[in-house]
Amino acid sequence: MKPAPFAYHRPATVTEAVSMLGEYGEDAKVLAGGQSLVPMLAMRLTHFDNLIDISRLSELNDITLQGNEVRIGAATPHALVGLDDEIADSVPLLTLATPHIGHFQIRSRGTLGGAIAHADPAAEYAAVALALDATIEATSSRGTREIPATEFFTGLWETALASDEILTAVRFPVATGRSGFGIAEFARRHGDFAIAGAAVGIELDEDDRITRCGIGLLGLGSTPLRATPAEEAVIGTPIGGLSAEEIGKLALSELTDIPADLQGSASYRARVGAAMVSRAWTQATTHAEEALNA
Ligand SMILES: Cc1cc2nc3c(=O)[nH]c(=O)nc-3n(C[C@H](O)[C@H](O)[C@H](O)COP(=O)(O)OP(=O)(O)OC[C@H]3O[C@@H](n4cnc5c(N)ncnc54)[C@H](O)[C@@H]3O)c2cc1C
Repeated sequence: MKPAPFAYHRPATVTEAVSMLGEYGEDAKVLAGGQSLVPMLAMRLTHFDNLIDISRLSELNDITLQGNEVRIGAATPHALVGLDDEIADSVPLLTLATPHIGHFQIRSRGTLGGAIAHADPAAEYAAVALALDATIEATSSRGTREIPATEFFTGLWETALASDEILTAVRFPVATGRSGFGIAEFARRHGDFAIAGAAVGIELDEDDRITRCGIGLLGLGSTPLRATPAEEAVIGTPIGGLSAEEIGKLALSELTDIPADLQGSASYRARVGAAMVSRAWTQATTHAEEALNA
């Protein structure tokens, strides 16, 4: 099938793009890498009279270290996120997450901002943004505001973005030397969205006790989620205080909205999810121990 007709706009600046969004209102949609929006248009699952292409705006295509955060422009393709040395040093969980996203062709066109704005419950970058307490920048003709990742994902494919706002950048905290990261997911075929998965970031104090823990869950609800019971249980404990299996079980213990579909029942997803949390936890703690011994 082909999409229904639409007008294609390529603004030269973010200011022009948000002005167009304001002008066309509900009849307009932002187009970034097109890896989610274009198939939906082609299958006529959705339709907009105006597509506003932000993918070539250089303002949205930069990666900068700003104090203790790395700011990544929304239109930065997944492939560049995965290859960038600054990100590998400062936000290694993004580097670990990138190869799990789709196929190389999708990673070449899909953008960081698009993956987060699209808010698929199984999106890896969304789980990473949650696990690391990232900050999302949203710009409209009224100005730019900041949205904590924990307040961004409001429902299935729904976010805190207003219809006239563009997600312009995501800021991730720089990893300290006493930290560790891991991501694990299960998909039936490589490149598919995961059935379930988890992204973990931990930080340790001088006594090697866990001072911060973020566990982002993917595919286990109508939005990407945080595994709060497991996070709370490990704070103040040394690595190994709780086993990886215990943390996996705790992470899933309060989930009430686990989806069931052709890929598997809710109880199957829960078992896979717990196993993925355990694996990601083991990776993160191994990573932290290696960093401490380096
Ligand atoms: C076969 C296949 C497999 C895939 N597997 C995965 C996977 O495993 N994991 C995963 O995370 N993704 C996967 N994807 C999706 C891919 O990562 C997309 O690139 C991503 O979800 C959307 O990014 P995009 O830049 O292509 O956005 P688009 O498709 O252009 O846009 C998607 C939505 O986000 C909105 N949007 C985009 N950018 C912005 C912005 N800056 N501000 C406001 N709104 C914006 C658009 O209006 C639209 O509603 C897969 C896609 C395909 C086709």
